[in-house]
Amino acid sequence: MNEYTHILVAVDLTEESRALATKAALLQKAYSAKLSCVHVIEPLSLTYGGDVPMDLSTIQEQIQETAKNQLQEFAMELRIDTENQHLIFGRPQTEIDSLAHQIAADLIVVGSHGRHGIALLLGSTANGVLHGAPCDVLAVRVGI
Ligand code: AMP
Repeated sequence: MNEYTHILVAVDLTEESRALATKAALLQKAYSAKLSCVHVIEPLSLTYGGDVPMDLSTIQEQIQETAKNQLQEFAMELRIDTENQHLIFGRPQTEIDSLAHQIAADLIVVGSHGRHGIALLLGSTANGVLHGAPCDVLAVRVGI
């Protein structure tokens, strides 16, 4: 079996992140690996484009502040240092893969809803991460 040395856990900061925290903690212990975590904020301008006729910067700042605090709480439970907590702007699947490459992670842990049908066709974050990943990906079943 592979020895994992650096595990990156990607969290959307929903309740489901708890299941990922439990799994990541187990893996970290089993491999005595380094643990990093990431949350990606999708810029409102990316999501809504020019469709919203108002200045979104204040809302964006509030989202960033809330995400920062929640990521810190998540990281604290897993004893992840500040320098290994990553808050990034962009598209989740692209940024997670790119960060994994940058920090030389050898395992990415993501949640998977095991969607079917149209949702599967449209793709999920786990699916997207898997396709562009520079390393192994563990998709943990969440929200069943
Ligand atoms: P989804 O396919 O969007 O339901 O998300 C499944 C999993 O992808 C989540 O459990 C996280 O592991 C990861 N993920 C989704 N969105 C984000 C995000 N914004 N930042 C980091 N990870 C994410």
